[in-house]
Amino acid sequence: MHAYDDLAAMDRATVLHPFTNLKDHRSGSGPAPTFVTGGQGIRIKDAQGNSYIDAFAGLYCVNIGYGRSEVAEAIAEQARQLAYYHSYAAHSTEALAVLSKRLVDMAPGRASKVFYGLSGSDGNETQAKLVWYYNNLLGRPRKKKIISRERGYHGCSVISGSMTGMSFYHDYMDLPFPGILHAGMPHYYWGAAPGESEEDFSSRLARELEEMILREDPDTIGGFIAEPVLGTGGIVPPPAGYWDKIQPVLKRYDILLIADEVICGFGRTGAAFGCDLYGIEPDLVTVAKGLTSGYAPLSAVIVGEKVYQVIEEAADRVGAFSHGYTYSGHPISVAAANAVLDIVEREDLAGNARAVGAYFQQGLQQRFAQMEFVGQVRGVGMMGALEFVADRATKKRFDSAASIGGKVSAAARRRGLIARAMPHGDILGFSPPLVTTRAEIDEILDIAYEAVREVFDTMPA
Ligand code: PLP
Repeated sequence: MHAYDDLAAMDRATVLHPFTNLKDHRSGSGPAPTFVTGGQGIRIKDAQGNSYIDAFAGLYCVNIGYGRSEVAEAIAEQARQLAYYHSYAAHSTEALAVLSKRLVDMAPGRASKVFYGLSGSDGNETQAKLVWYYNNLLGRPRKKKIISRERGYHGCSVISGSMTGMSFYHDYMDLPFPGILHAGMPHYYWGAAPGESEEDFSSRLARELEEMILREDPDTIGGFIAEPVLGTGGIVPPPAGYWDKIQPVLKRYDILLIADEVICGFGRTGAAFGCDLYGIEPDLVTVAKGLTSGYAPLSAVIVGEKVYQVIEEAADRVGAFSHGYTYSGHPISVAAANAVLDIVEREDLAGNARAVGAYFQQGLQQRFAQMEFVGQVRGVGMMGALEFVADRATKKRFDSAASIGGKVSAAARRRGLIARAMPHGDILGFSPPLVTTRAEIDEILDIAYEAVREVFDTMPA
């Protein structure tokens, strides 16, 4: 066992952490490294003996909670039996066939086949290639552009990072790539015109999307990718009527709809999939995170009948489907997914997310909606957010240098609660494990309330 100080020195010297100020980390002027040593239920603990409620489920993924030995045993058993074999050229495992049948049966849309990767980013990278492949096979080589949305988050690789609609993910990285466009953000609080109803706002977004398609030329637009509920862009449920108005536009111009269910999938919104909640009929679906609850890396691209038929019919002409990863369908990840889905189904975690989620949403509203400096309280199921503004009436933002969201998150953390300062604006986000109980929700809300009070009560006038 290394002493904490030795480990911290090693870490500062050698680990390139994602989304971390590297200079501050190296010099020691940033937050001290947190060595996470264990987890049970909704709590994690660190090497210095601190315990935290993880109200963000890691990164919206540990839906079944920490420390589920049933999953650890399934992983160990698979590792003992067969830790690895590839899935190229029709090689398979029992766990892979079982999981794929399961996903096809439960997925929204007319699901047909499943392709596996290891992350949400690579899943969305595959989606882009499928859109291009499909249109090439149909003899439509110009129909390649993909529309995502401002404030959407789809990952950090080259194409998924381009799909992500927040400029700070692009800066200095030469993104977005050409051929990836961004439509208007479905964020009523910030996006609506004065006096505009939610329905009218949704109609306008659909109209603007159609205008964009016509401007670009519909023969050049191959796909539209969207999260059912905006996640990293601020945890924003869609405005009323949004999906009912957007989908006919896509159909009119024969544009494939890719549902990015990386956060929403497997119960987070209180429905099995976000698509089920909002009546979305996708052609392609990306899942990751909740698929294994983070117990092992795995993503899945669920290919709908419409796309799959074209791919299969072309096989005589074009040969093998030339896309895959060494670890596509990795036996250990797939075994983890089966064990996790057993728990999700047996414990009806979507049902829990619906029932406890309603209690959570109500608690958020009751505690925070009337507070000074809280501009909006929003969420659905087990996702929620508080948006802080300097003036509720005028929606004047705080100076970003004041880092209000970061301060509230830090105050919560000092009290043993992990709630995330979302990257775009002053937002405190929650996405607790789906096993969270009402009593634990009370704890989360009580601590969050104290943290918010601390920051605003001590703010210079
Ligand atoms: N899509 C959505 C909706 C996400 O929230 C994320 C990650 O947060 C991704 C894709 C990317 O997943 P990963 O970080 O596993 O690459």
